[in-house]
Amino acid sequence: MKKEQYSFQFEVFDSINDLSKEDANLLQQSRAITKTAYAPYSNFFVGAVALLSNGEIVKGTNQENASFPVGICAERSLLSSTAALFPAAHILTMAISYQNKNGKSNTPVSPCGMCRQALLEHEKRYDHPIKLILSGTEGEVYVIERSSLLLPLSFTGDDLRK
Ligand SMILES: [Zn+2]
Repeated sequence: MKKEQYSFQFEVFDSINDLSKEDANLLQQSRAITKTAYAPYSNFFVGAVALLSNGEIVKGTNQENASFPVGICAERSLLSSTAALFPAAHILTMAISYQNKNGKSNTPVSPCGMCRQALLEHEKRYDHPIKLILSGTEGEVYVIERSSLLLPLSFTGDDLRK
């Protein structure tokens, strides 16, 4: 028997003011678009904004439904739009923010497990990492160099060929 260990590093910035101009711009847009999310049940409004390899910007918000499983997260909403609108382009950076009407929204939150799997598929499909910028409507910002770091021992298309 042996033990394996998985760990990764990510950057923590005190505020949006410490980011590069490009990253700050994406985060600011993701904060702004939280206002257009449809989250009447959770009151947890999420906005995602991505910079693509072709220079385009694509946005997504969470869309809830009275039949709860029908709802979709902002990240997967964005991934679907990107694939439909710009199938030849891939995502370079995605900023994700949220506004919790029942909370302070001042600490970063990470994508849910299902979105991590979807982000991984995009990385594999285009063979390119997706940099994540995570933050609430204020406060600290996490920058993770590739989304797949959030999903160790992941299941991918490679496993279907084993
Ligand atoms: Zn999700």
